[in-house]
Amino acid sequence: MEIITVGVVGAGTMGHGIAQVMLRAGHRVLLLDISQDFVEAGAKRIAKGLARDVEKARMTADEREQGLARLKPTTVVADLADADFVIEAVTEKFDAKVGVYRSLEPHCRPEAIFASNTSSISITRLAAATQRPTKFVGLHFFNPVPVMKLVEVVPGLQTSPETADKAVTLAASAGKTPVRVNDFPGFVSNRVLMPMINEAVFCLMEGVADAQGIDSVMKLGMNHPMGPLELADLIGLDVCLDILKVLYESFRDPKYRPCPLLEKMVAAGRLGRKTGRGFCEYAK
Ligand code: NAD
Repeated sequence: MEIITVGVVGAGTMGHGIAQVMLRAGHRVLLLDISQDFVEAGAKRIAKGLARDVEKARMTADEREQGLARLKPTTVVADLADADFVIEAVTEKFDAKVGVYRSLEPHCRPEAIFASNTSSISITRLAAATQRPTKFVGLHFFNPVPVMKLVEVVPGLQTSPETADKAVTLAASAGKTPVRVNDFPGFVSNRVLMPMINEAVFCLMEGVADAQGIDSVMKLGMNHPMGPLELADLIGLDVCLDILKVLYESFRDPKYRPCPLLEKMVAAGRLGRKTGRGFCEYAK
């Protein structure tokens, strides 16, 4: 694929990983977050991630230097004016995401494609809130982005076939395996995964087994590489709760009702790995 300029909005868990794989693929990356601290923290994680790529012989030390030189961290929205593709990876809230598109719209070129890394929000609804619904697509990466092969490519109702094809090409250029999935709440991945995680939390709340026991059953009995509770900690319990709420509200089906224990953990700020404690404890 030709080398393009990719804007990444949000330098958190997903945004920094997406930026890393785009740099590794040879693209230029403009990384935007709301504060200098956040954007610098993201850039540091990218530098560390690319160092790991060198250690694992996925790139040379020279390629790492060149990759870092193609990264522009910024807090200024107008700096994304040159982007061919903008991938938004901010908080899983409709209003926050739409706020990002509205701030980008006056600066970005009309032909630029906007993509959302949303886990569950309707791509059709997000696209309709922009002035470029045909050039809007879901591009759902998985955590940790540099390791996970899958990207769900999700065309909304108005997404043009050309936009979906370009999203597939971009994901493939970053070494990912794109799978096209239609726009339904949770797509395929979270529609299947989140009810399993939620049920594991119900098992914990009802005392069916402790957290380690529940995870062991799923790892040893079902051959899952991680148990559902440690996976929830990795994703972030706040992110899991937000996704379950979207499924519950979209389908209006009680099978997606978030477990009260999950709500309690989030209220207590026990969000998983990122806060050092979720269903398991993590050394700082
Ligand atoms: P995160 O909280 O780690 O990072 C979000 C970042 O966005 C923060 O750095 C925040 O400062 C920034 N941000 C918020 N508003 C912004 C704005 N207006 N402009 C620029 N930056 C802004 O969240 P995350 O886990 O990286 O999730 C991001 C998105 O990716 C969500 O939609 C989530 O559902 C999705 N996702 C998450 C995972 C996961 O495992 N964490 C997996 C797949 C998809």
